[in-house]
Amino acid sequence: MSKLAITGGTPVRTDPFPAYKVIGEPEKDAVAKVMDSGVLSRFIGGWHKDFYGGPEVQAFEREWADSCGATHAISVNSATSGLYAACGAAGIGAGDEVIVSPYTMSASCVAPMVYKATPVFADIDPATYCLDPESIRSKITAKTKAIIIVHIFGMAADMDPIMEIAKAHDLIVIEDCAQCPFATYKGRPVGTLGHMGIFSFNYHKHIHTGEGGMITTHDDHFAERCQLIRNHAESVVAGKGVTDQTNMIGFNYRMGEIEAAIGRCQLAKGPELIATRKSNVAHLEAGLSGIAGLTMPTTKPAGDHVYYVHALGYDPDGTGVPVGIMADALKAELPLTELREGEGALVRAGYVQPAYSLPIFQTTPGAYPAGLCPMTERANQRLLIHEFMRPPMSAADLDDVIAAFTKVFDNLDPLRAMAQQETA
Ligand SMILES: *Cc1c(COP(=O)(O)O)cnc(C)c1O
Repeated sequence: MSKLAITGGTPVRTDPFPAYKVIGEPEKDAVAKVMDSGVLSRFIGGWHKDFYGGPEVQAFEREWADSCGATHAISVNSATSGLYAACGAAGIGAGDEVIVSPYTMSASCVAPMVYKATPVFADIDPATYCLDPESIRSKITAKTKAIIIVHIFGMAADMDPIMEIAKAHDLIVIEDCAQCPFATYKGRPVGTLGHMGIFSFNYHKHIHTGEGGMITTHDDHFAERCQLIRNHAESVVAGKGVTDQTNMIGFNYRMGEIEAAIGRCQLAKGPELIATRKSNVAHLEAGLSGIAGLTMPTTKPAGDHVYYVHALGYDPDGTGVPVGIMADALKAELPLTELREGEGALVRAGYVQPAYSLPIFQTTPGAYPAGLCPMTERANQRLLIHEFMRPPMSAADLDDVIAAFTKVFDNLDPLRAMAQQETA
């Protein structure tokens, strides 16, 4: 038995892992072309042919829509902007309730608040970490207007029952696909299952443009409203002949030509990058799935997973080690990834605190109490999340990850002792 690094032993590896980098020559060439043209953005915030942006923006939108079979794709400068625009397009307003997930990046649950609506948290399904259709059903009131579904970690939520509920109650469904590009649900592309889908191109994501986002929809009306909100709606509606003024205050959520040019290259690379993540996960799971105390993520019900992260179920009762200590022990065995210096190895205990614990939800005492979504609160104690499946990790790199997990799970006694000391 080798001594754990967290108790002063030698780590499995100290050489940094390769930097997460998906940008290369095609992107450099595409950017150079835009620079040579001198037109870094061609949007005009008025009813004019340039209301829809320049050639790279429009080409990226067409190619994105085609890649997922959506009728429309509307580029924006982030997924956050996309979520806000989608809420505006949906006609969400004061007095409305919007059902949201507590287990997500904050933007997807505060988006309704931009339009003075109230987020209502439903709980997650502990198997998928996405919203549980039955919990959604239990939160519906006469005021419910929409549901924001988050396809968390890289797998789609169970959309068939969710869309049935939405249809029965006449609710608009917005899919947050930021962690789930190129994924399918029962063979159908995410972002085309609800009324609007949102994708992110920030640099943590599967593909990126630095910052950027995309909205997809089959609906002409929602597409037009998203385009208006993206680009100064209030000064466009008269010329365009838009009569419904609901939420027709526009923003500047426009994407530049450089980002769009990069995005087109990234879209072309997307399927290969996803395939690499999947094969890296298969390699890791061949080594990790036999470890007692760990459960590999399911691909049910969607039947597909694109692994934004590899979220491992963790059993703190069986091991006798709280997840925080376990994550620290694993981090100690493994090196930094270049470009992510300062954050330690890419392993963490749980995902995020339930979103309703954020200060903005605590300004009305008692409105969002602790215990509101028990499955979400429990999940954070029972998840070990890592990102080692990112390209360009080699088989040898992945073997070091497996070695670290194996070493730590073979040496639980010192960690149990640490846990006892903490509670004593
Ligand atoms: C990253 C992310 C966002 C926000 O994306 P930005 O493009 O950075 O605004 C929204 N929702 C989820 C689930 C995300 O992971």
